[in-house]
Amino acid sequence: MAAALIADLRSDTLTQPSQEMRQAMAYAEVGDDVYGEDPTVNALEEHVAALVGHEAGLYCSSGSQTNMLGVAVSVEPGFEVLAESRAHILRAEVGAHAALAGVTSRNWISPDGTFCADDALALVSAQERYNIVGTALIEVENTHNFSGGRISDFGELVRLREATRELGVRVHVDGARLAHAVVAGEQSFADHGSICDTLSICLSKGLGAPVGSVLTGPRDLIERARYLRKRYGGGMRQAGIIAAAGLYAIEHNVDRLVEDHESASRIAEAVAAEAPEVIDPSVVETNIGILRVDRIGAKAADVAVAAAEAGVRVTALSPTEVRFVTHLDVSAEAAGKAAQVLAEVVARSRTAV
Ligand SMILES: *Cc1c(COP(=O)(O)O)cnc(C)c1O
Repeated sequence: MAAALIADLRSDTLTQPSQEMRQAMAYAEVGDDVYGEDPTVNALEEHVAALVGHEAGLYCSSGSQTNMLGVAVSVEPGFEVLAESRAHILRAEVGAHAALAGVTSRNWISPDGTFCADDALALVSAQERYNIVGTALIEVENTHNFSGGRISDFGELVRLREATRELGVRVHVDGARLAHAVVAGEQSFADHGSICDTLSICLSKGLGAPVGSVLTGPRDLIERARYLRKRYGGGMRQAGIIAAAGLYAIEHNVDRLVEDHESASRIAEAVAAEAPEVIDPSVVETNIGILRVDRIGAKAADVAVAAAEAGVRVTALSPTEVRFVTHLDVSAEAAGKAAQVLAEVVARSRTAV
């Protein structure tokens, strides 16, 4: 029989809205947002835009939608966006950019998820050539989900910004978990806003809102995104009810992310103590850890099942990788217990290699 649940570390999207957040939602002032008359949506859009130093914001249903619109406003059909090979826009948005916006893509490869501007710049193709696809946009994910929540080096982002400005190529940052980079690093939200044209921030990842993301950028691009959102069926009416949760999340749940980072480090250290080849704790910079269980001769799916039976839920990200994610609903105490359980499961999973 499976043990009682100790911690659900499959994703930071699993959080439940707190009582205070529900209270904020229940009493939110609302209006028809397609008319631009929802005061809570307007406040959220203005708040996030001001935070990152951009002119305007657009509240959307998901991070996929903000990315989709962020790409679509900068890339004409038939032109391309460049991104890292495991970027969420390439792997986890079910082909939206190609299927709905006619955007093509190429990728560079960063095995450890760190960002090097030259990798991206080496792929840029001039837009005026008649026989080759032109590059309109470079997308950078910060933090980088599938490589274990890695933070992009800010100096490299500044270099990218300077070089792309000269090339006439725009930059979109998928900052689904940008708050994690802010809390763990030395740059502010506004610093991150300064190195891109458009930026997407999720309110439902780690920050604990039940739904929603905000796209920010210059006013003309955001108005274009608002128009396209309506075309895709994403116009919302009294959305202040959910936007209130987003405002609450961004006002109350950013600083505490350091606790999630500490919990993730603690889990990584416990596992590394049993099996150092599986994870290097020094690369766990935020709230995500990737366990390379193939290095102890184990299969990711088997490790995930064994962990679940012992009370800790994790994700088999690929046949070789198990991902754990810490969040608002995993206390430091639960993370401590989960660390022990995962370390034991990994130790038991070792086979001769
Ligand atoms: C989760 C995530 C998104 C958006 O996902 P939705 O489920 O559409 O909200 C975008 N980018 C990254 C890096 C993510 O991890």
